Parts: sequence; C-alpha cells; structure tokens
Amino acid sequence: MSGAVLDGKKINQDILAELRPRVEALRAKARAPALAVVLVGDDPASQIYVRNKIKACQELGIRSLDSTPDGSISTQDLFELICRFNNDPQVDAILVQSPLPKHIDERQILLAVNPAKDADGFHPFNVGSLVANRPAPRACTPAGIIEMLKRYQVPIAGKRAVVVGRSDIVGKPMALMLLHENATVTICHSKTRDLAAECRRAEILVAAIGKPALITREHLSPGVVVVDVGMNRVTDEAEVRRLFGHDERRMAAFAKNGTTLVGDVEPLAMQELSAAYTPVPGGVGPLTIAMLMANTVQLAEQHLG
Ligand code: NDP
Repeated sequence: MSGAVLDGKKINQDILAELRPRVEALRAKARAPALAVVLVGDDPASQIYVRNKIKACQELGIRSLDSTPDGSISTQDLFELICRFNNDPQVDAILVQSPLPKHIDERQILLAVNPAKDADGFHPFNVGSLVANRPAPRACTPAGIIEMLKRYQVPIAGKRAVVVGRSDIVGKPMALMLLHENATVTICHSKTRDLAAECRRAEILVAAIGKPALITREHLSPGVVVVDVGMNRVTDEAEVRRLFGHDERRMAAFAKNGTTLVGDVEPLAMQELSAAYTPVPGGVGPLTIAMLMANTVQLAEQHLG
C-alpha cells in the first residue's frame, strides 16, 4: 500500500487558473498587478527561486519589477530601495528574497516593507494579524499547505497536528494556521525530547527542518498525512542510493546531475506508511509560488479599489 500523492503542481495550476480572471479584471479596470522582487547578491538557490517567481508572474500577466542590488549593499541603502517601492503607487506588493547577506539587519528590512504591500506576510503587523486570525497577507508556504489540505479534503479540525520546525517563515505560522483550522497542534524543534514519540502521535505531520530525511520510519504512524517542506540538496552518492535505491528514475537523474533534492522525510518510509504525502520536488514548492501570486493579486485588488 502506498500513500496518495498530494500534488503541489496540480494545486499550483488550479490556483493560478482561478487568479487569471482576477488579474484580467484588474487590467481591464486599471492596470496589471505589480510585484517588486528584491534579490540581494548572487546566491544561486535564491536566483532560481526568484526566477521561478518572476516566471509565474509572467504566466499570469502580473508585472514584475526586479531589483538586484550587489551583495555589498548597506542596510540603509536597501532600506531606501524598499521605501521607493513603498512610495510607488504603481507597485502593489514587495518581496525581499531571503536569506540576506549577514551584514544586513534583516529585522530592519522586514520592518521597512509597508504592511499593505507585504507579499510574504512577514511584517510583524501581519504576523500579529495571523496570531489574531484577522485578514492580512499570510506567509506563503504554510498558507499554501493549508490550501492544499483543504483542496484534497484532508480533515484538519480535531486532528493531532505536529509541526517540526519553529522558524518565522514556516514552522510558527504553520502551527498558527493549523490551530485556526481547529487542529490540536504540537510544535517540535531541536531541543524537543524524543522527537520520534512526538511525531508518532501526529495525524498530520509537517516537517520543516532543513535536514535531509531526518524523519524516518520510527517517526511515522501508519495512516499519517505527511507534508514535507524540506528542500535539501544531496550530492553524496551513498546517501542518495540509501534513500532512492528503489527509484530507478531518480538514480538515473542523479547519475546525470550529481545532485538531487531531498525532503526532510525519508521518501520510502513516507510513501509506505502515510495515507497521503507531498513529494519532493513537486509538493510544497509550487504551492509557495501560487500563494505569492494570490497575495499579490489580493493586495492589488485592495490598492486599486
Ligand atoms: P530554519 O533553519 O529557519 O528552521 C529549521 C527548524 O528546524 C528550527 O526551528 C530548528 O529548531 C528545527 N530543527 C533543526 N534540527 C532539528 C532536529 N534535529 N530536530 C528537531 N527540529 C530541528 O528553516 P526554514 O523553516 O526556513 O526551512 C526549513 C526547510 O524548509 C528547509 O529545507 C527549507 O529549504 C525548506 N523550505 C521550503 C520552502 C518551499 O517552498 N518548499 C519554503 C521555505 C523553506 P531550533 O529552532 O531549535 O533551532
């Protein structure tokens, strides 16, 4: 028996299809929604993420303005760049790609973004709105996960949900969103005692850790719904063989590329034990982009009345 695949690519396409008429309506009424994307420096992974976000904008007819300051930019100069987008009436939403270089004061940059243009929902004002369960832009990755669970009709209310990871961008907002959906939520982290025992209690398990295949068979109860947020690049052949020896296509792709993307959950254990699971890649990643587009359209609708 193998768990059902929760297909993030399909949900992404469904969400984009629903946004298209809303974008068209805005274009007909005023102008295309506009998202400013700020990418500091030349981190290769960030460049790929940003490229995919801009591609989604193009597919939808959203105007994207990309700004790519040098990695040596000062906090003050970055602050001023963001203020220019804040003050530009042609810009509806602003995204600052993380991680930022170490010398930048990330908190100050988060605060710089006008909460009414906060495409990522990271501004403390919007985080407060999430805590209070009031409407505001929501962090894209956990919002996409809730959207996916609902669209696959996975019951959340009353379920025991365990979130492993407590970052501001995934773990914490995920736990709050599950709580607002009436799950009974446990948050685990690196200081949790007996992580496996905590995870085994889960009926819905969200892994947002950033450690390849940390969650193994001993963490999973049969029938659990697993959402694997992790995106880890693995280049060690023995490790890839251990995780994907059963998967000829994956091994062939690894032989060609010398790297493969691994989630935080051991793939075979997840497939065999879960009722449903998100694959890596093709699970959570596409949802994040879909929700970024949804936030942008929503903010544009608010700005353009
Ligand atoms: P962070 O590094 O900010 O947070 C990781 C969390 O995992 C921390 O709370 C940490 O605990 C916890 N953790 C680390 N080691 C352990 C352990 N051994 N046992 C239990 N908990 C542990 O990561 P992010 O939340 O930013 O990202 C998590 C993963 O999700 C990454 O792989 C990232 O690439 C991916 N990601 C994917 C996205 C997508 O669109 N698919 C979007 C965003 C992220 P502590 O707080 O105690 O240190």
